[in-house]
Amino acid sequence: MNWEFNESFARDLDAKDPLGDYRNRFYIPKINGEESVYFTGNSLGLQPKTTRSFINQELDDWAEFGVEGHFHGKTPWFAYHKALTKASATVVGAKESEVVVMNGLTTNLHLMWVSFYQPTTTRYKILCEAKAFPSDQYVMESQAKFHGFNPDDAIVEVSPREGEHCIRKEDILAKIEELGDSLALVFWGGVNYYTGQLFDIKTITARAHNVGAKAGFDLAHAAGNVELKLHDWDVDFAAWCSYKYLNSGPGNVSGVFVHERHGDNAELPRFAGWWGHDEERRFLMEKGFVPTKGAEGWQLSNAPVFGMAAHRASLDIFEEVGMDKLIEKSRLLVAYLEFVLDDVSSRNENCNFEVITPKDTAERGCQVSVLLHGHGKGLFDKLTALGVISDWREPNVIRMAPVPLYNSFEDVYRFGKKLEASL
Ligand SMILES: *Cc1c(COP(=O)(O)O)cnc(C)c1O
Repeated sequence: MNWEFNESFARDLDAKDPLGDYRNRFYIPKINGEESVYFTGNSLGLQPKTTRSFINQELDDWAEFGVEGHFHGKTPWFAYHKALTKASATVVGAKESEVVVMNGLTTNLHLMWVSFYQPTTTRYKILCEAKAFPSDQYVMESQAKFHGFNPDDAIVEVSPREGEHCIRKEDILAKIEELGDSLALVFWGGVNYYTGQLFDIKTITARAHNVGAKAGFDLAHAAGNVELKLHDWDVDFAAWCSYKYLNSGPGNVSGVFVHERHGDNAELPRFAGWWGHDEERRFLMEKGFVPTKGAEGWQLSNAPVFGMAAHRASLDIFEEVGMDKLIEKSRLLVAYLEFVLDDVSSRNENCNFEVITPKDTAERGCQVSVLLHGHGKGLFDKLTALGVISDWREPNVIRMAPVPLYNSFEDVYRFGKKLEASL
């Protein structure tokens, strides 16, 4: 495409965009009375206008039926989680039996580790990316300690090479080979939260399996952003949150994937709760936990219905649009953003923006992380004052996510203008 940095060009792209109308289905935050340029859908996705009615439905059922809402509501609460399964499975490329929505993300990671990190005295190493999201680091440290290992010994990190920002796939694969029989678990982010680098989940999983290790992924920045085929890729487990690209509201519930190879394995260690018990016998309230089949067997508690109602509102939109169309638009938005950054940068002597997110579309989603050489937080603060909501990371990185569901090409254009004005 021959990109142009001007308003009519951007508007023209919006007019031709098959997903253009979806923006109207979301509330766009305003700054100074004007719609903001909201580039933080990777941190907290925007609110669909339908969310309120989904929550109201459950409030109404609660008012009308009280406890009987478990069986007589519009979507009976005893099985409410099932109403989220089909769409969740589609988003991550799984069979329905492999997916369940429950708890928060970090809680779910711990539950998965209980089942899939089974270290022995010789096979106990954990392989992860350097600078993983802090919650992931704390999961790894505390799990290693829980099993009696020193995290400094058990956890092995792969870093970018000197002078580089992203991690090379060959370095990950070489490390897996090197650790070989000592490797228990490869635990990786699908998309790195800082650089926006998308990893080759399929190959990492296959190589981990080659040396007899398991492979699990934190998909917080991948679910609803990039193509995922967790079942076909043979991933052992994964978990993601619903409030970033999946637009389900602050702190909301998390999704979990357990491959069907493991789903019916009652021998796997797990921390159990009544909602994971054999569905047919759940209400017999008897002793002796027998997991229900599939990912649902990892549930602990009955469904937090209000949060799940919000998640349903957003999953409905994902079902309607489909990931393919979202990814197609996401690539165009990101390419346009890169063009605008280059263009602005080339016309301003004192700045030199360096995109640290990989150029290759196979290695990124819709996040662009930019190093602002020659500029610091002052520039970011000016941008914010002008109505750009993005994300700042010390010492001089801005993370931006033009999200295909509700960001427009005009947003990217407006961002460029505001960036120029801030310089
Ligand atoms: C956002 C994010 C989390 C957040 O975890 P919560 O338990 O939902 O607070 C965890 N891991 C990664 C990689 C994230 O990006």
